[in-house]
Amino acid sequence: QRFKPVIGRFAPSPTGPLHFGTLLAALGSYLLAKCSGGSWLLRIEDLDPPRVVPGAAERMIRLIESLGFEWDGKILYQSQRYERYRQVLAQLRDQGQVFDCCCTRREILASAPHPEEEAPVYPGTCREGLPVGRVGRAVRLRVSNENIHFDDGVYGRQQQNLETDVGDFILHRADGLFAYQLAVVVDDIDTGVTQVVRGADLLSSTPRQIHLYRCLHAAIPDYFHLPLALADNGKKLSKRHGDVGLVSEENGVFMLCQALEFLGQAPPEALLYLSTREVLQWGLDNFQASAIPAKSSKIRFSAS
Ligand code: GLU
Repeated sequence: QRFKPVIGRFAPSPTGPLHFGTLLAALGSYLLAKCSGGSWLLRIEDLDPPRVVPGAAERMIRLIESLGFEWDGKILYQSQRYERYRQVLAQLRDQGQVFDCCCTRREILASAPHPEEEAPVYPGTCREGLPVGRVGRAVRLRVSNENIHFDDGVYGRQQQNLETDVGDFILHRADGLFAYQLAVVVDDIDTGVTQVVRGADLLSSTPRQIHLYRCLHAAIPDYFHLPLALADNGKKLSKRHGDVGLVSEENGVFMLCQALEFLGQAPPEALLYLSTREVLQWGLDNFQASAIPAKSSKIRFSAS
């Protein structure tokens, strides 16, 4: 078998300041890619204009850089790739794999057997054509009744049946925006990404993305999902939790050490007296993928 260089990536959404959860994705993807002599790409997922905070991407990039992370090549911005997403959507339409859908959220919820579930399974209403008198709002990708398997580098073997668990899913939203599932896969294919490292909240999106890779006849990357840092209330730590876990140049060393610890790398105390670059280097020299825990847990930041 020929040696295939690893191409990893970090793909933050610029919806707020850099916090610990995002730092975990940056660090995990960096270590996994760089440890095998691979490259590490940076992509800004500014796909959803209403959610993008002006200036957040630039601040995030500057902070990542000042902490000592080095990415390869040019930064990719999803907001500059709408034309490409449109092209791929047209290709899928030519292949007969997408269809227009008129259903509103309320209609889908009304026909769901378990409406309390966060994302109800699409009931297939528009699969064979729009109901008379209705107009298409969104574009969905057809799925089939088969189990999609993958071996996650952290969480192990995973499987999902897209038809029974998800249903045909949206690639182009009713509000005119392209869906995350489409953009992520097209970007990863176009930039040659072979290794996807990200938070475990995206484990359940992976089978949908694998299905898309297959529809586009592209090679499926390796997946590593990282445990989530949870706030005191048990929810994923995010900008909703205010200043808790915000990363800055001042607390960079402390936060990187906490992130190494969270990823099971057992950093020695002495790292706290080094620079962020030296902490990253220690991470590279001592990294063990098998030590990453496959379980999300709460994190408390005691005074540094
Ligand atoms: N932009 C997503 C996030 O910040 C990550 C997407 C991915 O890594 O596939 O949560």
